Amino acid sequence: MMKRRASKVISVGGVEIGGAGPIVVQSMTKTDTRDVKATVRQICQLEECGCEIVRVAVPDMEAARAIVDIKKGITIPLIADIHFDFSLALMALRSGVDGLRLNPGNITDAEQIARVVHAAKEKKVPIRIGVNAGSLPKLSNKKASVVQHMVDAALGEIRLLESLDFDLIKVSLKAFDVPTTVAAYEAIAKKTPYPLHLGITEAGLPWAGSIRSAVGLGILLNEGIGDTLRVSLTTPDACRDVEAAYEILKSLKLRERGPTLVSCPSCGRSETDIVGLAQMVEERLKGVEKTIKVAVMGCVVNGPGEARDADVGIACGKGRGVIFRKGEKVRTVEEADLLEALMAEVEKV
Ligand code: SF4
Repeated sequence: MMKRRASKVISVGGVEIGGAGPIVVQSMTKTDTRDVKATVRQICQLEECGCEIVRVAVPDMEAARAIVDIKKGITIPLIADIHFDFSLALMALRSGVDGLRLNPGNITDAEQIARVVHAAKEKKVPIRIGVNAGSLPKLSNKKASVVQHMVDAALGEIRLLESLDFDLIKVSLKAFDVPTTVAAYEAIAKKTPYPLHLGITEAGLPWAGSIRSAVGLGILLNEGIGDTLRVSLTTPDACRDVEAAYEILKSLKLRERGPTLVSCPSCGRSETDIVGLAQMVEERLKGVEKTIKVAVMGCVVNGPGEARDADVGIACGKGRGVIFRKGEKVRTVEEADLLEALMAEVEKV
């Protein structure tokens, strides 16, 4: 069993991050923040699929002001993503935002940062120091590696915030490159007690991006590093990031949420279209909220035994299949009835 890194606990709009609490799943909207209706609609969709904190881009004053109305339509905490212009952070705070993300690479004026920090402190709003390998601040040590550069940028910003008597801090050091990301988080984890927000930045299209994120974040989480995470996939489907994040956490037994589908890869023993059946089951399980493990196996000989830990499953044979629970046969059904029989069994669990 992994030992979780001891970290401080901060509250982002009532959601606690850090300590021994659950690893919080975050996402970011893909809408124009100034379009309040579309942004609220997307956040509600994200809430439904399990997003616990949401971030919006704040590229201008209109977007910063829109936060007032967005907040009225949502229930999860809202974070403003600020780059370059500190006055957008001040406006976001005035608009009632629950958290800020500042990039130390593009807001560098200490006086401007101090103004934001004072305003955030007054409202007890946490700040994420969001270091990104692609937009690092200039550092005096020209020979530093990217990892060192990222860690130094984060530590410099932490020291600045602490010198202003501010400790509602969360830190991220994101890169596209998995070894760089892992090394940067491993290094910062030893140097600061603040909670860490994990992410592989610009991870890519859903298939490769999910694998890349699972490898990078999985390594860190398995080392006990990470208090919250966001998976960043290139997809119009807002929920894919959140679903991928939960799959990563579920794989490491760090969170439970909804059904888990176990399906065999099929082989020469199978006499059924196992791929088609597994896809249909996956589709039908989308509406199920209970935490349940469901198996779709390609043969009766090995299926029930191989998926013994599934709460309920089907093992397909020629023209018929077996419904099983925890590896024990419940009944035999005709092939045409397999899907409905399985879903009926899921209902019963
Ligand atoms: Fe092959 Fe049966 Fe195993 Fe599926 S469950 S991979 S069909 S042996």
